Amino acid sequence: MTTDKHAKRAARDLAAREGISYTAARRRLAGAVDQEPRPPVAVPIASTPCPEGCDGTGHPGTACWAWRPADATSTASWDVRRAAELPGGRADQVMRRHEEARENVSSRWARFHAWETKWLLALVYAMLTDQRPELMPDRARLRAAVEADDLAAVDALMEPLDRAAARLMTKVPAVWWGEVKPRIDAYADAVESDDRELRTWQEVDARHVVGRLVDQWRRTWEPTVRNASGVLEAPGVMWLAVKGWLDALLVDRHGGHAPGARVRFGDGRPAVVYAVEWGEDGPPVAYRVRELEPGAHGNVGRLVPSLSSDVLVPAADCREDTPCAVCGRTAGMAEALCDGCAPRFGPV
Ligand SMILES: [Zn+2]
Ligand SMILES: [Zn+2]
Repeated sequence: MTTDKHAKRAARDLAAREGISYTAARRRLAGAVDQEPRPPVAVPIASTPCPEGCDGTGHPGTACWAWRPADATSTASWDVRRAAELPGGRADQVMRRHEEARENVSSRWARFHAWETKWLLALVYAMLTDQRPELMPDRARLRAAVEADDLAAVDALMEPLDRAAARLMTKVPAVWWGEVKPRIDAYADAVESDDRELRTWQEVDARHVVGRLVDQWRRTWEPTVRNASGVLEAPGVMWLAVKGWLDALLVDRHGGHAPGARVRFGDGRPAVVYAVEWGEDGPPVAYRVRELEPGAHGNVGRLVPSLSSDVLVPAADCREDTPCAVCGRTAGMAEALCDGCAPRFGPV
């Protein structure tokens, strides 16, 4: 037997014994001989993305290049590619669609902070697809949707994941602190102790992305964070914002009242939608609303959300007010005009 044959047999034995790939076994044995640190990537990869269902015979000696949205040909627009790219690209897209659609200039501060929060949505996507692989869109169909530059088709494939994220995230502090945050903490622990072997640079890449999100999560909860101006900030992240983006996205697709919509209870009392409750499929099943009460300070004559009220109302008991006759936005109470278009009363 030549040395090479010995090496091959040893590698086959090791592979069988440990349930690892032949190539990984070869590499480990080579590393054991050379006493060199193992290179991060074991398996060279095909030079172009493989067709779906590739069996590897067309590129002997290399692993398949699993198609990713970033590999799409130039026919696909940037937006569609990003919307298909998990976890970060889609999180960015979902955030932008919502924040850029908001015309209210006075919310610029809130929007700026929301932009900084998109990493949390990316982390939630990563956690959900890791824990429930069935939420990952089918790659062949995703590829077809991206190559066709079809944003609606991409969204439809992402629907189960978006819905799972919308059902997980919350605007209720007790739920966030008691259930959601502990769950993400546990996921962060799992990611940090994950020592599964990485075979290709694609796997290395994916692990790196999730690792950075987990780092961000850890930094967020350090006792004090010094911001860019050198001021110590209380730890935290705008977790409310993430729920708002997901609700708006799903309302767009399924109908119902988006966060911020004026609605009325069955008895006619006005309220504003704060968060949306989702079932397994279809339109919203319920809304978390805040009652509206007359403003008492700089906003006399307007209706403002009561900060102490947080009522869960079945969807059937909520109806949206008619649009404002001037600007088309939702009008309050029984008036034909919204607050912005109606003449203002009282001292301002
Ligand atoms: Zn292949
Ligand atoms: Zn108006």
